[in-house]
This record gives sequence, structure tokens and C-alpha cells, in this order.
Amino acid sequence: MTHILHRAAKVVPPVAVSGAGVEIVDADGRRYLDASGGAAVSCLGHGHPDVVAALHRQLDALAYAHTGFFTSEPAEKLADRLVADAPEGVSHVYLVSGGSEAVEAALKLARQYFVEIGQPQRRRVVARRQSYHGNTLGALAAGGNAWRRRPFEPLLIETHHVDPCFAYRFQREGESDADYAARAAGALEAKLVELGPETVAAFVAETVVGATAGAVPPVADYFRRVRRLCDRYGVLLILDEVMCGMGRTGTLHACTQEGVAPDLMTVAKGLGGGYQPIGAVFLARKIFDAVADGSGAFQHGHTYMGHPMAAAAALAVQETIARDDLLANVRAMGDRLRLRLVERLGASPHVGDIRGRGLFRALELVADRATRAPFDPALKLHARIKREAMARGLMVYPMGGTIDGRRGDHVLLAPPFIVTEAHVEAIVDRLGEAV
Ligand code: PMP
Repeated sequence: MTHILHRAAKVVPPVAVSGAGVEIVDADGRRYLDASGGAAVSCLGHGHPDVVAALHRQLDALAYAHTGFFTSEPAEKLADRLVADAPEGVSHVYLVSGGSEAVEAALKLARQYFVEIGQPQRRRVVARRQSYHGNTLGALAAGGNAWRRRPFEPLLIETHHVDPCFAYRFQREGESDADYAARAAGALEAKLVELGPETVAAFVAETVVGATAGAVPPVADYFRRVRRLCDRYGVLLILDEVMCGMGRTGTLHACTQEGVAPDLMTVAKGLGGGYQPIGAVFLARKIFDAVADGSGAFQHGHTYMGHPMAAAAALAVQETIARDDLLANVRAMGDRLRLRLVERLGASPHVGDIRGRGLFRALELVADRATRAPFDPALKLHARIKREAMARGLMVYPMGGTIDGRRGDHVLLAPPFIVTEAHVEAIVDRLGEAV
């Protein structure tokens, strides 16, 4: 008997009771190798002693102080650190409690920016159909996932979606990456022109697409083209790195690998590594200045923003990653994971693609590799793989979404940054069996 409305209303999941390193243990003593980091969250694994100690210290000192009255030392230190290592042009961060809150705040900052600079007609948002930006009403409007949106339409923010996001199935036969990047950027430009760019506030995109399409990196030069279009048409570029950011792809920010800097950027998951709920919005100086020199305050706020416990956890997580040079391990183990997936599953007629960056990897499963035809959705293949993997003590993050009206099954892997070669072997072995 449960009184919680769980995700599947009638199914109660196993009860997690403890965790250490890359393992979670349930109430029956079963152990699960966390190859998904939950949902790409647990970048330091579970029970990391340095983070636990930092949380104990903060709890002893002060658990909570409302930002209407105080700032706090961990929040200030965290912000200093984030800005010091931020993409070019970022001058401030706005601290919230998770990914959806960060996306909401970024969308509202974009809107308020244009109000402050006297262009209030810039209200619309352009996003991509193969995207997930969160489940609150504004973030849901930005996301392109039709089945998530449907029960709640019409949604709150006028969003227009464009294609594609580079899931391999959308690249045309014989099309070069350069042509593909040009086609995708062309779709964005056509949309901006159609809408009237003077009505558009922002273009929002995940730098590497996460849950919806499964660790899909952009094609080279796409984001540079997007950056130029945003500049030409006066549209803000919001990068959503809630899932792919904070080291997951092998660099602290995924956009560094694309050679672009955003006007606003969201991070969450890996920021606090699951030790506390936390998210952040990075602001380019022009956004901060417009608000600070204009009305003087961002018209927004949440009770738990800048929470000292959350900031202390995030600070400890980020300091540990830097001290132990864990991004080098992300790159090395990410390459190893890709190689072992290719060796174990690459020849399967049902593996259409093995992709991703760093420790953000995915398999895409297809009925027929030659035609790239997806499996019949009625099979719920992704859900079966999750069950089979859990039965083998392995946590993976499978999704079967409608991508551009076409169904696809993929399995996302996002293990903690502390994985070893032995963990990679165990992940690939168990996943291979489950598939
Ligand atoms: N944006 C992206 C890219 C995400 O992957 C997610 C979460 N999966 C969110 C936003 C929302 O984050 P949260 O679940 O913390 O609200």
C-alpha cells in the first residue's frame, strides 16, 4: 500500500535504502549498478565522503536563510566558481532548485530583458521538436515532445518548433555534415523570418539532446551558424545544459566543444550531483545589465533559491570533480564505453546507432538497420529493456519517444564520473544481455 502518486500510478518501484559509489541497494538487499546516474544526475556516485562531510558542516552551521533577507557563504562561493569557469561573456548566475525552474527563469529573463530594453513585442520562443526542457508549464511549452504536451494544451508560452536535432535518422542519404548543419540552421532562419524576428525573444536548444532523442550531439558548425543567426536577428540564444552540462560530455560545458557562448544557459542535475536539488541560470553581462540598470530587479523568485545546503552540496561536488580531475576520467571512460558498446552490440541488426560524448552515450534500437525503421511502439521495447536491465541489477535510462512524428527506442547511459574499466565492462555485459 502506498499513498504516493508514483510515476506509473499503479506500480510501486523498489525501495532504495542506501548507496555507495556507483551502486544503489534496495530494501530487499538487491544491488543496482547505476549506469544512468538516475537521470544523468549522480556525477560523483552515491555517498561521496567529501560531499557528505560538506553537507554535515553546513547543516551544523545553517540550513536555511531566505534570499529576501540574506545571501550565504556557500551560495556566494558557488556563484564565484561557476562564473570563473563559465562560457565567455557570463557575468552572473541565478540559483534555483532544479532544471525546470532554471528553464522557467531563463525564459522569464529573456522576456524581461526585452521589456527592459524597450522591445516588449519580442515574446515568442523558438525551440526544436526533438527536445525536453522540463515539466513546469513554461518549460513544457518550450519542449517539443508531443505526448508530454498534449494533455495541457494550449500551453502558456507561444513556442514554435523547428527540426531537426541530428538524430542520425534525419540525415539524408549522402548528405555531408556541413550540408546537414546548413539545412538545420536554414530551418531556424526560415522560422524566424516567417514569424517576424522582431517578435521572437529567444531560441532554446539543448547543446547535446538528452532524454527525448538520446545523447544526440550537434553536427559540427550547427551552433556557430545558430549563434550568427541569433545575433543577426537580435534573438537571445538559450542553451539548456541541464542534462548534458557540468562535465557530462567531457568538458565542463558542452557548448565549449561547439565554440559558442550562450546569452543564457541552464544547468542542474550534475551541478549538485543529486546530493541536493539545485539548478542555475548563467546570464551574459548584457542580460544582467539590462535588468540591473533598468527596473533593478528580476521579477521572479522562489522560496528555496540559493539554498545554503544545496549550494554547499554543489560547491563540494564541483570542487571534488576539479580536484580529482574527473573530467579526464569522463573522457577516457566515455571512449572506453563507446568502444565496448560497439564491440558488443555494434553488429546487431537492431542497433541503429551508438552515439554521444563523454559519459553521455546512447544506443538507438531499430527494427531494421538498413531502412532505419523503428520498432512497433506497441512492443514498448524501451520499457522492456529497462525491466530486463533492472532484473540484472543495472540502471539505464531508456526512452521511446515520438521523434518528429517517428517513433524511436533508445537507451541512455550516464554513469557517475568515477566509473572504472571494470564498471564499464559490467555495464556493457548486463546491457548486452538485457537487449
Ligand atoms: N532540461 C533538460 C535538458 C532536462 O533533461 C531536464 C530533466 N530531464 C530538465 C530541463 C528539467 O529538469 P528537472 O527535472 O530538474 O526539473
